[in-house]
Amino acid sequence: MRNGSVAPLPGGLWVLAEHDQGRILPVVFELLGRARLLADRKGCPVAAVLPGPGDETVVSSLIAAGADEVLACADPTLAGLPEDPCTDLLAHLVRQHAPEIFLLGATAWGRTIAPRVAARVQTGLTADCTMLDIDPQTGLLLQTRPAFGGNLLATIVTERHRPQMATVRPGVLPEPVCDTGRCGRLLIVQAPPLTNRLTELVRLVLPPEQGIASARVIVSAGRGIMSQKNLALVRILADLLGGQMGVSRPLVDMGWAPVTCQIGQTGQSVAPDLLIACGISGAIQHIAGLGQVRTLVAINTDPEAPIFQVADYQVVADCVPLLRQLVRDFSGRQSDGGPGSEAAAP
Ligand SMILES: Cc1cc2nc3c(=O)[nH]c(=O)nc-3n(C[C@H](O)[C@H](O)[C@H](O)COP(=O)(O)OP(=O)(O)OC[C@H]3O[C@@H](n4cnc5c(N)ncnc54)[C@H](O)[C@@H]3O)c2cc1C
Repeated sequence: MRNGSVAPLPGGLWVLAEHDQGRILPVVFELLGRARLLADRKGCPVAAVLPGPGDETVVSSLIAAGADEVLACADPTLAGLPEDPCTDLLAHLVRQHAPEIFLLGATAWGRTIAPRVAARVQTGLTADCTMLDIDPQTGLLLQTRPAFGGNLLATIVTERHRPQMATVRPGVLPEPVCDTGRCGRLLIVQAPPLTNRLTELVRLVLPPEQGIASARVIVSAGRGIMSQKNLALVRILADLLGGQMGVSRPLVDMGWAPVTCQIGQTGQSVAPDLLIACGISGAIQHIAGLGQVRTLVAINTDPEAPIFQVADYQVVADCVPLLRQLVRDFSGRQSDGGPGSEAAAP
């Protein structure tokens, strides 16, 4: 790794390196992996833009994931990633160095920052992309995302304005294979003077638990679980397997589960090693959250259920007695009469 204050390489593909108090978020590595692939197709460099100090381990990890250079700004006003100074910095860097493409994670923070930066530099932004590619003819970024309520996939191009900006949700793109032998350079950049500060970070409240986005095992339920009481079986099995419970949107709408458990287009994208989907039909809006599931086991009474088209294992069965049996098998105790013992309605 080389340090320096020279300008970044022109015409680059940038990725915003969002971090949580110095810990780079997994979505950044996912974006860098894809950015590397796209940059190789396009023949341009990849830069990670880091609003924070360029600590050696952080910079090395970004380079290993695909960055050619890391633009770090250690200005104290950026501590805690407040929105106004970060927007000022990113808009300033974009204006100064004119990247071709700028990718951000569709996290809560990324979704706040991306439209602000896009508005400042007067370019377009495609939010929540599920796939990114390069058009071999034009070299433009092909930004694919669900449209019209998720009933079709639209591929959007930003022909005239630069940079071409897109956000991608965590867990949608695969993790990159990191190469610790890759070489890159660290560029120290300066923050511009703060123009106007509309918000101030008063207090940082961390979520109590990590949520399903990072769970290795998920047992999920849809309307086929039939009752809220039966949902307890799903939670118990998830606990026994060391995982978490996921649900389809109707269960959230009915108030059976919190929205933090919802998988899909308007919920979480998940990437577990194992997901057992119980009584879920497989609507396109639900499948949108399953892109990175390693092994998907679907249990459904309907052999024609769309979820079977994407499942690795298809179990045509009533999920309630099956769940009860699995709970018994994994816990080594009878669960009849216990939580979730209500029989499924036909
Ligand atoms: C803009 C928009 C965004 C959306 N976002 C999301 C989202 O993020 N996530 C999401 O999940 N949905 C979302 N939806 C809703 C989505 O379109 C579907 O309506 C929803 O996913 C269906 O949930 P489900 O599979 O649980 O229910 P259903 O479609 O009713 O399917 C129930 C399934 O259970 C099976 N079944 C019934 N009884 C049993 C049994 N005893 N054992 C086993 N199987 C059984 C049935 O055969 C059926 O396949 C969205 C919709 C819109 C319009």
